[in-house]
Amino acid sequence: SLSYNGIRHHFGSKQVLNGIDLVAEPGGILCLLGPSGSGKTTLLRIAAGIERQTDGRLYLNEQEIAGPDVFLPPEQRGVGLMFQDYALFPHMTLAENVAFGLTGLSSRAQKEAAGTALERVGLSARASQYPHMLSGGEQQRVALARALAPRPSVLLMDEPFSGLDSRLKDTVRSDTLQILRETRATAIVVTHDAEEAMRMADRIALLRDGRLVQVGTAGDLYRRPADLFAAGFFSELN
Ligand code: ATP
Repeated sequence: SLSYNGIRHHFGSKQVLNGIDLVAEPGGILCLLGPSGSGKTTLLRIAAGIERQTDGRLYLNEQEIAGPDVFLPPEQRGVGLMFQDYALFPHMTLAENVAFGLTGLSSRAQKEAAGTALERVGLSARASQYPHMLSGGEQQRVALARALAPRPSVLLMDEPFSGLDSRLKDTVRSDTLQILRETRATAIVVTHDAEEAMRMADRIALLRDGRLVQVGTAGDLYRRPADLFAAGFFSELN
C-alpha cells in the first residue's frame, strides 16, 4: 500500500496541500477527484518522487520513502507513471517502447518482460510494429503495457484519458480497467470527472483546496455526500 501521512506542501507562500492522510490499498484503484487546482497532481508527483513534500511522511509497503530525513529517488521507488501525454517513441517498435523502462535486466529478460506486457494488453501480435500504425486507443494500451512492464507496486495515472475523444474514451477506459483488474495493480488515478471516478474507483478521495473533503466508495459519496461541495460534484450524475 501507499500511505500519505500528514502531507503538506507549499509552492513559495502558496499552500497547496493542507495535511493529507490517505491510503491506497493493495490491488485497489483509488481516484483523486477534485476541481482544477485542488492539489491532485501534486499528490501524484509527491508519490512519484518528482516533488518532495514540505512536511509529512510517505510510506510504500510500510517503508518510509519520503519524509523529513528520508527521500528515495523516483527510480528506486518501484512506482509506475502514466501521464496524459503518454507519447511513445515514434522511431521504436512497440516492443522497444515497452522494454525502454526496464533497466537492470539482460536484453533477453527485457524482451520477455515486454512480450508479457504486450500480451496483457492484447497487442503481442503487433510487437514489431511502430506507434504510427496504431489507433489512439491502441497506443494508449501500449503506454499502459510500458507502465506495467516493470511490475510497479503502485501505478500512478494523471488524467489518463483526457487526450482521447469522447467516443474512444469509454472503450479505452473499460479496457484499462479490465487490465488493471487482471494484473491486480494498485493504482492512483487523478481525474476531475466525477463520472470517471465513479466508473473506475474502488475508493474516491475528493479534494478541495488542498484538503480532503471525503474519502469513500462511489456509493458513499453519491448517497451520503459530506457537504454541499461533495453533493454538487455528483449532482449532474444519475
Ligand atoms: P489540475 O486538474 O488543473 O491539474 P490539480 O488538482 O492537479 O489541478 P495541482 O496541479 O496539484 O492541482 O496544483 C495545485 C496548486 O498548486 C495550483 O494552484 C497550482 O497553480 C499550484 N502549482 C502547481 N505546481 C506548481 C509549481 N511548480 N509552482 C507553483 N505553483 C504550482
